[in-house]
Amino acid sequence: MSPREDTVLSTMQDVPLLISRILTHGSTVHGTSQVITWTGEGEPHRRSFAEIGARAAQLAHALRDTLGIRGDDRVATLAWNNAEHVEAYFAVPSMGAVLHTLNLRLPPEQLVWIVNHAADRVVIVNGSLLPLLAPLLPRLGTVEHVVVAGPGDRSLLDGAAVRVHEYEELIAGRPTSYDWPELDERAAAAMCYTSGTTGDPKGVVYSHRSVYLHSMQIVMAEAMGLTDRDTSLVVVPQFHVNAWGLPHATFMSGVNMLMPDRFLQPAPLAEMIESVRPTHAAAVPTIWQGLLAELTARPRDISSLNRVIIGGSACPPSLMQAFDKLGAPVCHAWGMTETSPLGTISHAPAHSLGTDEEFGYRVTQGRFPAGVEARLTGPGGERLPWDGESTGELEVRGNWIAGSYYNGPDAPPLRPDDKFSEDGWLKTGDVGTISPDGFLTLTDRAKDVIKSGGEWISSVELENALMSHPVVAEAAVVAVPDDRWGERPLATVVLKEGAAADFASLSAFLEERCGIAKWQLPERWTIIEGVPKTSVGKFDKKVLRKRYADGELDVTRL
Ligand code: ADP
Repeated sequence: MSPREDTVLSTMQDVPLLISRILTHGSTVHGTSQVITWTGEGEPHRRSFAEIGARAAQLAHALRDTLGIRGDDRVATLAWNNAEHVEAYFAVPSMGAVLHTLNLRLPPEQLVWIVNHAADRVVIVNGSLLPLLAPLLPRLGTVEHVVVAGPGDRSLLDGAAVRVHEYEELIAGRPTSYDWPELDERAAAAMCYTSGTTGDPKGVVYSHRSVYLHSMQIVMAEAMGLTDRDTSLVVVPQFHVNAWGLPHATFMSGVNMLMPDRFLQPAPLAEMIESVRPTHAAAVPTIWQGLLAELTARPRDISSLNRVIIGGSACPPSLMQAFDKLGAPVCHAWGMTETSPLGTISHAPAHSLGTDEEFGYRVTQGRFPAGVEARLTGPGGERLPWDGESTGELEVRGNWIAGSYYNGPDAPPLRPDDKFSEDGWLKTGDVGTISPDGFLTLTDRAKDVIKSGGEWISSVELENALMSHPVVAEAAVVAVPDDRWGERPLATVVLKEGAAADFASLSAFLEERCGIAKWQLPERWTIIEGVPKTSVGKFDKKVLRKRYADGELDVTRL
């Protein structure tokens, strides 16, 4: 934006907000902080921020001089959370190229689509993921180079029409510093695709500026409150919205990162918490549910954790209480790929501490940070008040919120009407209320709301209530067609190991103990083995709806 003619400019320096500056800062001022990667055997692997900085420079030299990466070329990663992935996180954007993190849990068809759409030239892959990548290569038309890091069977790449490089050999002997270019801070730095639950996946492109400002927000006391005294267990994958911004934020304030690599099962997670003693951790509710079951069966000391960030889908209050009891207090946060992702985070306000209100605040999705503006919009497009009662679609705007989707380097960006308002706000597709003091409570995703006889039933409220029952391990509630009411809730319940329950008593529990109104109680019930999950570990309700429609569920009617 150019200044208006009558603008009096400040006397401040204008230094672009670049990822290379975060890297330089972290690897010098916090050079002794560490990335600790779990290896599954013996001591974890430790690499200092200073070493990461040197190796990121070496990687950038290799990408430029040997692989010919220039300008805004896209360099993809197909990797777990580990030190090499952090090096790519910094090297690629700092040199001016664009880091594209690939979600290794996507169906192969979607991966192929995404790589071709982004026109990735290089894939940096963990050896353990070659069985996933190798069969796709013939269909990845733009990929010229594959760089393999870590153990794995290289012979899977025999005969592939790409040049194959060993990560360590590629960077060895290169200069350990790099004259990082002075880029435009608005330039593309990294990209992620949404998981494409409806239609094709959509590419969100983060700028250096958005990453820089988002990192500053993440470390603030009001958000995750991170300093060099912390060690953060980054369970949320680096391919899921930049691991919620943690790799950048940790370099900003010298926070050690504990990276699980491919050891994401509850038992190794419990083991790494007990032995490395992180103070902070971040993951979706499903990971914490799994860990809770593990800790119940085989108790470990997880009391080093003083902030467990849970987001990505609604955190059931019962899960929060369980971790509170284990001495690892939970902090709830909301965000999405389009919001970098920090949209809200829940810290109970000072006046509520020690009162009955405190927990009520903590279970909300939280408050908006200064960089995020929010409004609620009703079905007719009307603005709704922040009164804690009016329910509408959440719209947001801010420095790290997407304003459009990527559509190739030469095509204009996409701005679908269902995703952006006329005046440029992001329509989140999330439905909820905002209290007068700015706390967001989400009741549902617009597409998951149960529309029963002109009233809305919150699937999240029913799920949270069900999951507070002692025999229930997980529960998902979906809308199913109903002749009389249009839609009604179907409760799908996963029981804890060895537990039994009858639906009538679960229904009575919802009504009597959780205060669910009679007309909202599900009359259709079924027991399932496990709730199907999306590629980032959220309840996949469209699979449940389809199973119901295909008659695959054994449904009981009360
Ligand atoms: P996907 O659309 O693949 O799930 P995202 O990871 O971008 O991709 O998901 C963002 C969505 O996740 C939000 O729009 C919201 O529906 C849901 N979500 C994230 N955090 C929370 C939360 N704390 N509570 C409820 N829903 C959440």
